[in-house]
Amino acid sequence: MDDCIFCKIVSGEIPCHKIYEDEFTLAFLDISGDIYGHTLVVPKYHADNLLMANDEMLDHILKTVRRISKHYVDDCGFTGVNIMNNTGLSAGQTIMHLHFHIIPRKENDNVKVYPDKVEHDFDFAEICNFLKI
Ligand code: 5GP
Ligand code: ZN
Repeated sequence: MDDCIFCKIVSGEIPCHKIYEDEFTLAFLDISGDIYGHTLVVPKYHADNLLMANDEMLDHILKTVRRISKHYVDDCGFTGVNIMNNTGLSAGQTIMHLHFHIIPRKENDNVKVYPDKVEHDFDFAEICNFLKI
């Protein structure tokens, strides 16, 4: 895709701080600098998001997500990772090229990835009935 920032990073037109690369995927540091080690993993071929990706692409990208996560935990002193994906504008997706976020974590690192939980009086049976496949 001509006007896709992540396609331009894959092609080398836009520079990145590369963490890992193989035939199908590329991982690099998120430019925001919001959290130490915040990493993005993208497929080398364009798909707008998770819903548009084919199975083969998902296999490759999830394997890379696991590989990098394992490296962060086994070799880099982290003890866990948050793995996140935003799919669609309403979910906060800002770059329309499939990507997973990896946030490396340590005990008591004060990183806040999810908002505080607020309990609601949901009718779980009704929700389940509506959503189930
Ligand atoms: P989304 O909100 O779509 O899930 O995440 C997009 C991410 O891409 C954001 O965290 C943003 O900081 C990052 N990002 C946007 N433009 C660039 C860029 O040019 N280079 C890099 N490395 N990250 C980018
Ligand atoms: Zn793209």
